[in-house]
Amino acid sequence: MSGALIDGKAIAADLRKELTETVSKLSKKPGLAVILVGNDPASEVYVGSKIKACEKVGILSFERRLPADISEADLLKEIELLNTDDAVHGILLQLPLPDHLDANTCIQHINPDKDVDGLHPLNTGRLVAELDGFVPCTPQGSLMLIKSVQEDLTGLHAVIIGRSLLFGKPMGQLLLSENCTVTQAHSKTRDLPKLCARADILVVAVGRSEMVKADWVKDGAIVIDVGINRQEDGKLKGDVALDEVKEKARAITPVPGGVGPMTIACLLKNTIKAAL
Ligand code: NAP
Repeated sequence: MSGALIDGKAIAADLRKELTETVSKLSKKPGLAVILVGNDPASEVYVGSKIKACEKVGILSFERRLPADISEADLLKEIELLNTDDAVHGILLQLPLPDHLDANTCIQHINPDKDVDGLHPLNTGRLVAELDGFVPCTPQGSLMLIKSVQEDLTGLHAVIIGRSLLFGKPMGQLLLSENCTVTQAHSKTRDLPKLCARADILVVAVGRSEMVKADWVKDGAIVIDVGINRQEDGKLKGDVALDEVKEKARAITPVPGGVGPMTIACLLKNTIKAAL
């Protein structure tokens, strides 16, 4: 079987079109504040693309560039100002932060109702309790990609490799809420290839170039590759060996052009939700 590539770019473009229409009907413009501490080049690129994406759908963006040596107390004050600013509906703190700043402390200072990254513990709790809240963007987008292949996931066995707060854990919750049987794998999991080969849905978020080979994948599985690994030649590769795995999978996301575009589209979606 040669599986179809799941076109994340096209699905994200459809979502952005829908969001642009929603924004055009609103009486106020949604506003997203993006906080960038320091000048990490990768973070600069991510922030730039988020701001550009906001403009395209009609969301106002407010960039807060802060020096790398800012104290935690001053960063918390900046967050507080944005928490009380009525023009700001969503606040995104670009990670990673410089070593002297504690990301958890800073995230916990964001008003949970403006936490469009979905990383505040209250939103994590809402997700687990299946209450309305903000769902982290990458798992939210990954679920949309899975559902673009198969709407009803009831009873399917999903294996997720990775258990980060940013991706693995919320992805597990989302698939559990879709009535999948979820196995959460990580660096201490035994017999990982064998475990993965039993998955109807395999989601990989590790950060190791082409770790998942064809013999890790069940015939006809849906495979979502979240990994982003920059090669020496500057090209991006995922955590899954795409060329060989696509021969076995029913559908698979490429890197680039799979999960990546969905992350930003879901950030826009969360910001609009925050403004409603
Ligand atoms: P992370 O916090 O570093 O988590 C990596 C996870 O992989 C951990 O749970 C770790 O297990 C597990 N792991 C590491 N080595 C392993 C191994 N040999 N076998 C099995 N599991 C292993 O990373 P993350 O933030 O979740 O991101 C994961 C990847 O997704 C990265 O490449 C990142 O760049 C990418 N990403 C992409 C997007 C996007 O928009 N496309 C968004 C977010 C992340 P332990 O918990 O046991 O250490």
